[in-house]
Amino acid sequence: MKSFKTQSKRVLDLMINSIYTNKEIFLRELLSNCSDAIDKLYYKGLKEGISGLTRNDFEIKIKADKKARTLTITDNGIGMTAEELENNLGTIAKSGSLAFKTENAEEIKADDINVIGQFGVGFYSAFMVADKVEVYSKAFGEDTATVWVSSGTEGYDVKPCEKEERGTEIVLYIKEDTDDDKFSSYLEEYQLKSLVKKYSDYIRYPIKAEVTKYKEQTEEERKDGAPLESYTEWETLNSMTPLWKKNKNEISEEEYDGFYKDTFYDYEKPLKRIHVSVEGSVNYKALLYIPSKAPYNYYSKNYEKGLKLYTDGVLITEKCADLLPDYFSFVKGLVDSELTLNISRETIQQSRQLKLIGSNIEKKIKNELLDMQKNDRESYEKFFDAFGLQIKYGIYQGFGMNKELLQDLIMFKSVKEDKYLTLKEYVEKLAEDDKTIYYATAKSVDGVKALPQSEQILDGGKDILTFADEVDEFAIKMLGEYEGKAFKNILSVEVTQNGDDEKLNTENNGILEEIKSALGDKVAKVRLSSSLKKHAVCLSAEGEISLEMEKVLSQMPNGGQGVSASKVLEINPAHPLFEKIKKVYIDDKDGVKAFAEILYFSARLTAGLSVENPTAVTDKIFDLLSK
Ligand code: ADP
Repeated sequence: MKSFKTQSKRVLDLMINSIYTNKEIFLRELLSNCSDAIDKLYYKGLKEGISGLTRNDFEIKIKADKKARTLTITDNGIGMTAEELENNLGTIAKSGSLAFKTENAEEIKADDINVIGQFGVGFYSAFMVADKVEVYSKAFGEDTATVWVSSGTEGYDVKPCEKEERGTEIVLYIKEDTDDDKFSSYLEEYQLKSLVKKYSDYIRYPIKAEVTKYKEQTEEERKDGAPLESYTEWETLNSMTPLWKKNKNEISEEEYDGFYKDTFYDYEKPLKRIHVSVEGSVNYKALLYIPSKAPYNYYSKNYEKGLKLYTDGVLITEKCADLLPDYFSFVKGLVDSELTLNISRETIQQSRQLKLIGSNIEKKIKNELLDMQKNDRESYEKFFDAFGLQIKYGIYQGFGMNKELLQDLIMFKSVKEDKYLTLKEYVEKLAEDDKTIYYATAKSVDGVKALPQSEQILDGGKDILTFADEVDEFAIKMLGEYEGKAFKNILSVEVTQNGDDEKLNTENNGILEEIKSALGDKVAKVRLSSSLKKHAVCLSAEGEISLEMEKVLSQMPNGGQGVSASKVLEINPAHPLFEKIKKVYIDDKDGVKAFAEILYFSARLTAGLSVENPTAVTDKIFDLLSK
């Protein structure tokens, strides 16, 4: 027996047990080798003008024998001579494929040859699942065949053998099952099918396997409940041409949508598709989709972002997270690029390449979204309803770092127009010297309309944006301003006093003082404001601390340590309720007190502030109603 030609047998041990985290990739490695071997022969045929070597003549076959516990993988590629077997498989980390690529670098590019191997270790991954491997090979143009046999670290034997057809046949003696690994699954039809689909779907030669089929039954047989008769048939498992490598005009909408639904398990068509082929400082093809709905777990920790990453049509990573920023985590899709892989081919060697592709993709997604916002508003609004929240989080979480990228993608419902507006659209409607973007926090446009301050702003001809999500105000704080216009919460707008208000307030001073004394320190002032139109009361604030600040502070763990706004209770003098209070005051001065607390309670509620003891107040309301 010969020893492996490396410094130490331990290297092989290391290869087998430490390079790969995932045993199932052995099949990907062996199939990639078969594809390489075929490419090499195809290339030779082209170069030397050998007839009878057309693409259609080539194939790779997988055959499982459960009884013998063997998995056999056969190709009719270039094969190996005894010497090549010894050199390529007897020397760990020697890659015949890399040598081939280096020698023929220029021509290979021109002839669209796609040799995958480069590290000379992939073959040994077979020992992760097999305790013995036999490689029967007959090189193209040779009469004799050779077999290489090894049971792993001990070494290998090479001797002549019988083999009729050119190419290579690899027999894996699959390991016995253990508690951790069910190796026998690699002999199952469904498992082999799914591994080929997962990793090697775009190998450019047919990968065939014997699959079980059932004979169609006659009407009679069905009636009699006769057992189904099965037979096996060779079937091609891989789809061979990657959709994204085809020309855009050769792909139908159905193909694009079908691919999306099959690959990303969605029942609905995507909202948008982005198919790009980029050549420049980094070359890649990408096929990206924006789903029409957020996945059920989208806004949870379980959701994993990422794009599939292929190099040379072979899957490297199922979900490469580095390719997508969090704020675009809803994008599904794949990237195919010739990347410098790490030895296990499980990761990329240089994250610089990935970073470049990632930032490139980020710009593409943003531009496509802006384009959709402009030209297909209906779809954009659907998109925004599903994923707008994520984008707003993106602005907030980046501490404004991503604001240039994201601020034009967000929208808020306009109170005036009852439809979504972008910040740009809001600002475009402002006069040049008007420096304020008004907003209010409420669940809906109607909720904003119900706020007392909104009347005065809308009557002044200005619009208000509805901040319906909790994150909205925080995201806006990160933006600071938009095109020189500042954001202003309408609650912090002072309720304007009209010329007549002063007189009104003096006339009714007695009533107002009664109310103020009933409320004590809760309010700094009680006054009549005729700028309130429909609403009976509202709160405004004087001084440094706004009602919004009080609200945010009171939600902090220490309850804002009692910091509160200096509040003004504004009462609408034209409201029938005030007429009623006036009457009560004339009859019974003290009776006004009962109204005071209810007014204050309602004003707090509409301002979105909490109420300390709601039952006490509702009791008072019912008392008053029952009188
Ligand atoms: P790599 O594919 O990265 O070169 P491997 O360890 O998988 O490394 O294979 C080592 C070498 O063995 C290959 O470069 C190739 O020259 C040769 N080889 C492996 N499998 C085959 C095959 N099915 N047919 C012909 N040559 C093969």
